[in-house]
Amino acid sequence: MTKAGGFIPLRRCVACRERLPQSELIRLGRAASGELIVATSGPRLGRGAYCCRQTSCMEKTVTKKLFTKTLRAPTRVADAARLLQEMREAAAKLNPPRKDS
Ligand SMILES: [Zn+2]
Repeated sequence: MTKAGGFIPLRRCVACRERLPQSELIRLGRAASGELIVATSGPRLGRGAYCCRQTSCMEKTVTKKLFTKTLRAPTRVADAARLLQEMREAAAKLNPPRKDS
């Protein structure tokens, strides 16, 4: 939520290749263990891979390991179902549903 002179850093979704503001993407990183993790609040993670919040992109990213090229390190998915759940949760936080109440 920073407004830095109108400059919005864009990142590319590894699945659909669409460029979106970084704040609208789910950031994935590599833990020291070599496991792929959702990097919601880890500013000190190194290279990150980004995925947009489309369910199809999340699934593709995990099942086809689309993050590998971006992270440039052997990264494994220990539990794909759990990771996808975490990604959905991260996506929900990126985009709080608007409520008129
Ligand atoms: Zn996408």
